[in-house]
Amino acid sequence: MVHSNEGVENLVIIGSGPAGYTAALYSSRAKLSPLLIEGYQSGGLLMLTSDVENFPGFPKGIMGPELMAQFRAQAERFGTRYLQKNCTRVDFSSHPFKVYVDDTVIRAQSVIVATGASTKWLDIESEKKLLGKGVSSCATCDGAFFKDAKLIVVGGGDSAMEEAHFLTKFASHVTVVHRRDTLRASKIMQDRALKHPKISFIWDSAVEEILGEDGVTGVKLKNLKTGKFSEEKCEGVFVAIGHEPNTSFLKGQIELDPKGYVVLPNRPTTATNVKGVFAAGDVQDVIYRQAITAAASGCQAAIDAERYLEALHG
Ligand code: NAP
Repeated sequence: MVHSNEGVENLVIIGSGPAGYTAALYSSRAKLSPLLIEGYQSGGLLMLTSDVENFPGFPKGIMGPELMAQFRAQAERFGTRYLQKNCTRVDFSSHPFKVYVDDTVIRAQSVIVATGASTKWLDIESEKKLLGKGVSSCATCDGAFFKDAKLIVVGGGDSAMEEAHFLTKFASHVTVVHRRDTLRASKIMQDRALKHPKISFIWDSAVEEILGEDGVTGVKLKNLKTGKFSEEKCEGVFVAIGHEPNTSFLKGQIELDPKGYVVLPNRPTTATNVKGVFAAGDVQDVIYRQAITAAASGCQAAIDAERYLEALHG
C-alpha cells in the first residue's frame, strides 16, 4: 500500500469525464485515496449528450448525465475525494508536483490529466453575437426550445449526425451543412441521418454568416466548389464540428502536439514525458474519442500511476 507524505497527495486526477472517474475508481480501489478535481462543471462532454447507445452494459441506452452520475458514485464508494473547482495551472518542474486550484496549491506525488476536450466553434462574429440566442452546440440542452422550427446543424461527423437526429424530435426540419460531399460519421449514424425524412443535407458548403439580430433568422452559405453564396432560412444553428483538447493550462509543462493533445511517448502506457504524470481520455486521443476508450485509458492511467508510486515508495 502506498502512503501519502504529510501534506502531499498520492494522486491528483484532473478532469471528470469517463477517463477521470475511471482512473478514480481504479486508484481508490488500489487504496491510493485519489483527489479528483472535477471542475465547476463536472462530467465532461457526456453531460451534453442525449442517449448513449454504445456504452456496453446498457442495452436500452442511457442518458449521458445519468451515466456520468453513476461513474462518479462508483468511484466515491471506494474513497475518491472530489473538489468542485477548476485547475488553473500546474507546475511539473519539480517533485512533488504542484496543482493550482484557484489560489490554493495542492502538492502531489503523481498526477493523471483527464481534462478532455471542448466544443470547437466556427469562429465567426455572428456566431458569438447569437450564441444562446439561437446558436448552440448542445442539442440536448437547447433542442426543446425549437419546437416546429427549421434548424441547421453544421458538421459531418458523428456529433453532427447525432445532433441532427436528436433535433428531429422537436424541429419541423433539420438541414445538415457540411463542407465536403462525404460524411466523416460512422456508417450507422450516416445511414440513420440520410434516411430520416426530416433531415436533408447541403454539401460542400461553409457557413459564412449567421443571420439575425436578437435571434437567428437564417444562414449565409458559401459553396466551396463553385464559390457561390446563398441564404437558407432557419431559426436555430447547432454547431457540431468537433472538439479541441483542454490543455491550455499545461503549456510549457508537458509535451503537447501541434493541435494541443498530450503526447504519450511510451504508448501503450499512459506516461507523459514527465515522470509521474499520466494522461487519459480525449486529452490524448486523436483517433477513437469514445466514452468507452476514455474509460479504458483512465483504467490504464490508474494502474500506471499505482506502479509509479510503488516504485517511488519502494
Ligand atoms: P469529428 O469526427 O472530428 O468531425 C467533425 C466534423 O466537423 C467533420 O465532418 C469536419 O469536416 C467538420 N468540421 C471541422 N471543422 C470545421 C470547420 N471549421 N467548419 C466546418 N466544418 C468543420 O468530430 P465529432 O463529430 O465531434 O466526433 C468526435 C469523436 O467522437 C469521433 O471519434 C466520433 O466517432 C465520436 N462520437 C461518437 C458518437 C457516437 O458514437 N454516438 C457521437 C458523437 C461523437 P471534415 O469531415 O471535412 O473534416
